[in-house]
Amino acid sequence: MVKRRFSSSSGIVGRDVAIDLGTANTLVYVRGEGILINEPSVVAVTNEGVPMAVGSEAKRMLGRTPAHIQAIRPLKDGVIANFDICEKMLRYFIQRVSPGRFIRPRMVICVPSGITPVEQRAVQEAAVSAGAKKPVYIIEEPMAAAIGAGLPVQEASGSMIVDIGGGTTEVAMISLGGVVTGQSIRMGGDRMDEDIIAYLKKEHSLTIGSRTAEEVKIVLGTAWSGSENRYAEVRGQDMVSGLPKTVVTSTNEIREAISEVVRSIVDAVKVTLDETPPELAADIMEAGIVLAGGGALLNGMPPRIEEETGMPVRLAPNPLHAVAIGSGQSLEEFDALEGLLFSSSYD
Ligand code: ADP
Ligand code: MG
Repeated sequence: MVKRRFSSSSGIVGRDVAIDLGTANTLVYVRGEGILINEPSVVAVTNEGVPMAVGSEAKRMLGRTPAHIQAIRPLKDGVIANFDICEKMLRYFIQRVSPGRFIRPRMVICVPSGITPVEQRAVQEAAVSAGAKKPVYIIEEPMAAAIGAGLPVQEASGSMIVDIGGGTTEVAMISLGGVVTGQSIRMGGDRMDEDIIAYLKKEHSLTIGSRTAEEVKIVLGTAWSGSENRYAEVRGQDMVSGLPKTVVTSTNEIREAISEVVRSIVDAVKVTLDETPPELAADIMEAGIVLAGGGALLNGMPPRIEEETGMPVRLAPNPLHAVAIGSGQSLEEFDALEGLLFSSSYD
């Protein structure tokens, strides 16, 4: 990641930053510059709680740490599972883009829409103690994703966004700058990885780690029965002997392994459509459902949702960046979009 020097024509002002605090990846957007940081939301710490590494370096350590080091994902399952570590991670990322320690940046943070007021406040507090200026603005993930995907959120027409992340999936029907109806489930790509681990254990007596499971998902996984069946070798450990072992698995097997999570995602989309007023549903028939988040890249996701809903479905231009771009847009057009941000619960 290139670190740019701070420069401003108006003298010393803080850099405004927008953060997509995702369960799998954290992205930092700096006003006027774009996305400067895109790293896994992972922190490696010693048993005493001292951070050793953050981001990609820490992710490489997942499943490979000696007893005295732990690689932690502070946002497991869509909530802040470890406040302390989350704050350290935010501080690290903010410092990487901050010009100096004494200038507090204005900050917009994107959070899953299913988080409770208490959790939201925890995120804001973490940001302030990590160096952000008060108040810290919050933008809901589906709104940010929709803006980032280029949907006309402020218009009197319906836009439907599905953001499939690591720990959460957000479905929202948006019109006139607000979420008309939606679903937020605490399930996404991570659960698919866990289900692949369980499946290979059960069917092949093979033990693998979460990083291998993620690779298997990306290479072989699919949401759709129409996908071509392919085979690949997976290397792990024999469950009984503990010795290295390689098995051959297939698209069909992995599709079955992740089918429950995919089912839950599809159901969340269907429930949202069910609750959508008819005028807006007619708009979606025209405009289509837009998918964002890393989970949208799972093979067969668009055709599966098309098949189940009868609506046209397409991917956002850049699924993994949509939320950060949308949050960043709310900084760039702060005055026009301030109405979409929340700050009232904490200042
Ligand atoms: P979050 O917003 O929760 O940080 P992201 O939007 O960054 O999540 O998406 C991360 C999830 O997307 C992970 O579960 C990852 O395994 C999954 N993912 C990324 N690329 C692909 C792909 N090509 N196929 C399937 N899943 C993918
Ligand atoms: Mg996300």
